Parts: sequence; C-alpha cells; structure tokens
Amino acid sequence: MKATLRATAAAPEAPDKTFARLSDAVRERLAKLGIHRPFDLVLHLPLRYDDETHLYPIAAAPPAQPVLIEGEIVESGVQFRPRRQLVCHIADGSGVATLRFLNFYPSQSRQLAAGRRVRAFGELRQGFFGAEMVHPRYRMVTPDMPLAETLTPVYPTTAGLGQDALRTLVQRALAAADLNDTLPPELITQQALLPFADSVRYLHHPPPDASRVALEERTHPAWRRIKFDELLAQQLSMRLHQRERRTRNAPSLKARDDLTQRLLTALPFRLTRAQQKVLAEIRQDLTRPHPMQRLLQGDVGSGKTVVAALAALQAIENGCQVAVMAPTEILAEQHHRKLTEWLDGLDVEIAWLAGSLTPKQKKAAAERIASGAAMIAIGTHALIQEQVTFRKLGLVIVDEQHRFGVHQRLQLRVKGTRRTTQPHQLMMSATPIPRTLAMSYYADLDVSVIDELPPGRTPVVTKLVSDSRRAEVVQRVRDACLGGSQAYWVCPLIEESETLQLKTALETYETLRQTFPELAIGLVHGRMKGVEKAQAMAAFQSGATQLLVATTVIEVGVDVPNATLMVIEHAERMGLSQLHQLRGRVGRGAGESACILLYQSPLTATARMRLRIIFENHDGFEIARHDLKLRGPGELLGARQSGVPLLRFADLETDLDLLDTARAAAEHLLREHPAQAAGHVARWLGEKHDYLRV
Ligand code: ADP
Ligand code: MG
Repeated sequence: MKATLRATAAAPEAPDKTFARLSDAVRERLAKLGIHRPFDLVLHLPLRYDDETHLYPIAAAPPAQPVLIEGEIVESGVQFRPRRQLVCHIADGSGVATLRFLNFYPSQSRQLAAGRRVRAFGELRQGFFGAEMVHPRYRMVTPDMPLAETLTPVYPTTAGLGQDALRTLVQRALAAADLNDTLPPELITQQALLPFADSVRYLHHPPPDASRVALEERTHPAWRRIKFDELLAQQLSMRLHQRERRTRNAPSLKARDDLTQRLLTALPFRLTRAQQKVLAEIRQDLTRPHPMQRLLQGDVGSGKTVVAALAALQAIENGCQVAVMAPTEILAEQHHRKLTEWLDGLDVEIAWLAGSLTPKQKKAAAERIASGAAMIAIGTHALIQEQVTFRKLGLVIVDEQHRFGVHQRLQLRVKGTRRTTQPHQLMMSATPIPRTLAMSYYADLDVSVIDELPPGRTPVVTKLVSDSRRAEVVQRVRDACLGGSQAYWVCPLIEESETLQLKTALETYETLRQTFPELAIGLVHGRMKGVEKAQAMAAFQSGATQLLVATTVIEVGVDVPNATLMVIEHAERMGLSQLHQLRGRVGRGAGESACILLYQSPLTATARMRLRIIFENHDGFEIARHDLKLRGPGELLGARQSGVPLLRFADLETDLDLLDTARAAAEHLLREHPAQAAGHVARWLGEKHDYLRV
C-alpha cells in the first residue's frame, strides 16, 4: 500500500447562479459576510432594528434615542464655519430642527432644497441652536407618504455594502427562497417551535409592537427556532460525517503488548491514571477496522507525547508505519530526540525529516520510509506531506493540532490506495477546548482528555511586573542562571510585521548580551534556518547556554526541565492561550519555577483582564473558558475566517438546553426522516458541509 499524506484544501464554494447578476465587487463583499448563495441572505439576520414605524413631532421627540421626524425644509445651505457643512432647517408645526451634514455630495445640497419635505431618522440632540440631528438617514417624501409597517432591520455589514443595498438583497432572497419547513411536524409540535418561514420573516421584519428586548437578546421564539435549526444542522452534519467514516477502512491494529510493554517497562516513570485511561481509549480505537479520529487534549506538560509513542508502537507491532507531524521544526526535532531516546533498543528505525537536511539526506530518509525500512517518520507537516510516500501507513499523529486551526484539520488522502482505506489519526492539542465547545465542534471526533499532571510538579509562580521594574527582573535572571538553572527570555510579539519582529528579537538578544556578559546566551526565532534553530535548541537543552532569548516559536511543546524561569516581555500583547503555552515551558522539572510577565503601562481593559486571568489561573481548561468568554468560539478555535460553519446565532453558554435537544433531534431525524435531514443540512450549510470533513 503506497501512501502519500496530502492536505487537500476545501474547494471554494461556487457562487449560485442567481448571484451571477451581481457585480464582482458586491459578490466579494457578500462573501466577506459569509454569504455565498441566496439562502445565506435569508439566514443573514439583523443585529438590531430601527423603528421607523412611528413619526414624532419635533417638539415631543424623546432625547437620546433614534427617532423619525418629518418636516418641510424652511431653509437650507452650505455653511463654511466652523467648517464646510450642509445645514438644513425643517419645521413640522410643532417645532424646528436642524439637519447637519459634515460630509455630503453636491447632489444632496440640491436635493434638500427649501420647500421640499424630508423624513429624517436619527438622534435628536439639543444643540446650541436648538434641536439638531447630525448625519441623519433621510429620504425625500410627499405629504401622507405611509410609514414603514415593520421595524427596519440593521444588518451586519462590511465596508462598501450599505444597509439599503443589503436590505434589498435580503428582501429579494426572502421573496424567492423556499422557506418550507425542513422539520417534520411532530418535532415542531413536540418542541413547541415556530415554523421556519414565520421565524425568518419575523426576524427580518418584526411588527412595530415586537419586544425589542426579546429580539435583541435573542430570546424571542423566532430566535429560538433559528438557533435550534442551526444547532441541528451542525449536529446532523457531524453525524453524517461520522457515519461516513464508518464506511471507510483502516488497518485493524491489534494490541500485541510487545513493543508497547517494553517501552512501558523502560520508562523512568509510571503513567498517570489519566494517561492510562486515554491510552486505553486509543488502543481500543486502533483495533477497529475503521479510521480512528481522536483528539487527545491535555494541558501543557500533562504528558501527551508518551501516550502518542505508545500508540505508535501498537501500529508498528502490526507492521504499520507511523507519521508524526508537528507544526514547527523545533517541536519536530524534540519529538525526534524523545522518541529516539525512548525507542532505543527496540529496533525501530526512525526517519527524521528536518528542513535542515540536504536534498540528498532528505531523499535518503524518504527512501527509507518508502521501502518500509523506517517505521516512524517525524517532521513538520510540510515536509511529510510533500516529500514522503509510505509503504504501509497505519497511524498519523498530529501534535499541537490547535496551531493549525480547525480549518486546517487536514484531510489526509492516501495516494495509490482506494479512497476508502485510510490511516488512523491521533490529534493532540494543549489548548483545551471547553467540553461543550468540544462536543459541538468536534462532534465528529472522539475526544480523550488527560486531566491530571504527572506527580511532583511544583506549580509555576506567576509574577506581574511593570516594565519600570526591569532591573529587579534582570537580577533575578542572573541569580537563577548563576545558581545552575536556565531561563527563557521571550521577546515582544510584533504582530503587524515579521521584519519588525525579527529586528526586535535581534535587539533584545544584543541588549541581553550586554546586560549579562557572564552568561552564555542563545537565540531562536522563526526566521532562522532549521540547522541554526536546531543548534540553538540543542545548546540550551544540554545546558551549554543558560539563557535562551526566543520569540514565540518556543510556544509549543519545548521541553527543557532545567529551565525554571521565564521572562515574557510585553506580556500585555499576547493572548491568553499563548501566555499559558509559554508559561508551560517552565515548571517541567522538580525545581520551583517562575514566570515573570513584564508589561508596559498603561494597560487596556482587555489586556488587564487577560493578565489577571493568567495570574489567577493555572488550569488550562479554566483559562480556555475565560478565553471563550473574552473572544468567542470563532477566535478561540482560530477559525473566524475559515469558512467552517461556526455557530452564528446559538450561544453554547446560554443555549445548552437547545444543544441537547438538537442532539436528540438529529438522531431522530436521521433514523426516521433521512431526506429531511439532508435537506436541513443543505439549507443551513450548503457546500460548507464538506468543509467539516476530516
Ligand atoms: P505535553 O502534554 O505538554 O506534550 P510532554 O509529553 O512533553 O507534555 O510531557 C512533559 C514532561 O513530562 C516530559 O518531560 C515527559 O517525559 C514527562 N512525563 C510524561 N509523563 C510522565 C509521568 N507519568 N510521570 C512523570 N513524568 C512524565
Ligand atoms: Mg507536547
């Protein structure tokens, strides 16, 4: 069985035919909003509403809220002081109001001519010269022109796509779309749901007496129906994928307890209870003739690697090869070192595909894998997927899977075999995703959780230190290093520019070399060549360098137990999971460890909140929960722009009961009404259904 690992990017969704009439620019803007077909417009629901169903007399209009007024223009003209502006006075019998436009087209000043009638919507403020509206939305009217019959939807939009244009598009889509229910009547009755058509119509155009609170807080029954449908679509899609997975074949890897047993005996530690539990789950999966798709979650330092190594050995015991893929070369290198050490004496050949190898060496390694001589291939994704053909691949291990984001949950295709035969997959992640989120987003994956750390670890002491107290930090680093420990110094993150990031790293390195002439200092950053990186890491690993200046490339996986101190500069710029990952690089040995978060005042409110959370919490799951609150699930999963259907309407914190109902309904539907189930998925996810494939 010849096999090549290959990532297939999800094909872009073909725009619907009725979209063809739109200009490319409009279509692009719609795509930015996640709208690719007319039905997406139906599901593009308002953020809020304007009330233009009621006309206020100017004199009686309430302050501090948008109101609709109407009057005859008594005077209008362009003024030049204090700056150029169009000023227009209107009267309605009850009073006079000023409409003020700081930006306007010449056509507007002609349009808003004295004697004409205008209807304006905006906040009416008491200015120096009486009531005024700045930049109101307005339209020219004739007397007795009817008012809006429904509230006016205000949609999420993007630059270059105005509300009016969007409203027209949505209205057109609503009129043309098939809004028939996809749910069987008994489900609608049983769950007391509103019909789908009524719900979307209501939400796009609510009647004037609709409860604004229920609409905006999304508690109205129409919202409930939409959220239910959304969750149901997601549950159905996941189940369909899961079902499809069971139609595919994978080698059944029996537990022979030969190599695995020998590694267990040779390890210098005993597996924790949690490690044993997840290992049992994985080993059970591997024996099945269908591809395993398991996500192994465990906080930083919980010991996922050894579990992966044991899984690998089970594959090898069955004559199958294993691919180990890591997001960075540093991490791949480390896996290589760890596995080589652990498998010493087991007679298992490991092929190491470093970026730093010469083409000739790479070719030689690839040949060892192709011939089946090497049983394990370790490297970065890029290398393994581009360069290697396996003779008999049984298991793929993807480390630090979260770094790739959900959208890159790679679809591993096996070249030269039938599409129905696939290797097992084990994905590992140290960004623990809260349980509810995991169940919802990864419902097509099985999840194992290592929920305890190996014994004997002393928790890392976290300190928040203002940059003004740098001198104390410097002293502390010096003491630690001279005392025989090692330390990391993490350079400030410069998100905007990689060049600037590099410059900062080099500068930090130079400065620290001057600060600590008595210490051996190393440097790693993302732009270094593979060999250089490997050398810098090896020197730190061996203790030859005492202080390692690093960019966030060391965020994932790096494991040097003798490093007990970490300084993170400009910690206020980093995200929660990044800080947690970085901090997880220390506290890996028995010694007491500390992480110093240097920050620059003044802090923004969010930065303050993040630093506080990281200071107060050590449990990765707890931190992820906070992160979810701060950033929302899309950001947390790194999937905001991915096209992966995230929940837009339902909220997993507040709508948990609906999720349970949707889960049960999904099973019922698939069993009793498969055609409707398919229709429902198509309506909600369209082509996106396929993005979810793993
Ligand atoms: P992570 O889950 O973050 O990838 P690692 O697999 O790198 O964690 O493990 C962290 C450290 O703990 C490693 O040095 C590893 O050898 C060690 N380790 C793993 N399991 C145990 C255990 N049961 N007891 C003691 N040390 C362990
Ligand atoms: Mg790891």
